[in-house]
Amino acid sequence: MQMVYIGLGSNLSGTMGEPKEQLEQALKALENHSQITLVNVSSNYKTKAIGPGSQPDYINAAALIKTQLEPLALLDQLQLIEQKHERERSIHWGARTLDLDMLMYGTLTIEMPRLTIPHPRIRDRAFVLAPLLDLDPNLSLPEGQSIAKLLANCPEQGIFKL
Ligand code: AMP
Repeated sequence: MQMVYIGLGSNLSGTMGEPKEQLEQALKALENHSQITLVNVSSNYKTKAIGPGSQPDYINAAALIKTQLEPLALLDQLQLIEQKHERERSIHWGARTLDLDMLMYGTLTIEMPRLTIPHPRIRDRAFVLAPLLDLDPNLSLPEGQSIAKLLANCPEQGIFKL
């Protein structure tokens, strides 16, 4: 069994509802998955969108899961859940109904075309670091950097705990 941190984000309504409901549905999908155990979920955060043009605010959160799925098999499952939420992949960094990121997978470091672990956006994005800190105030990246210190060094990014 591996402990895996998942980042969740949504800033568009879809058939499954408003962004907050999209996250709730995604968490249910993780919870109901036969090869995944949902261990804990962070608070929700309302965050300003980073990316092209003006976009609605995001709702972001993080989840801790336990799984025996290998990293790429887990990525497949996360992408299946995203697809069920009709994620529009045409605009890079554009608005989206649901974004699921694998933030950390145990203490593994992975560099593959489909998968980078730890997720490259962890280190400088308050909307990723703050929910991770909710789940474990003593959490560190595999190379030893403390999540709390990374967050303290992050520029103010307009995130608001709900
Ligand atoms: P994004 O639009 O930022 O969600 O990026 C989606 C793409 O990032 C997918 O094609 C994934 O294969 C790739 N990817 C690389 N590393 C990760 C990761 N740690 N978690 C989720 N997707 C990843």
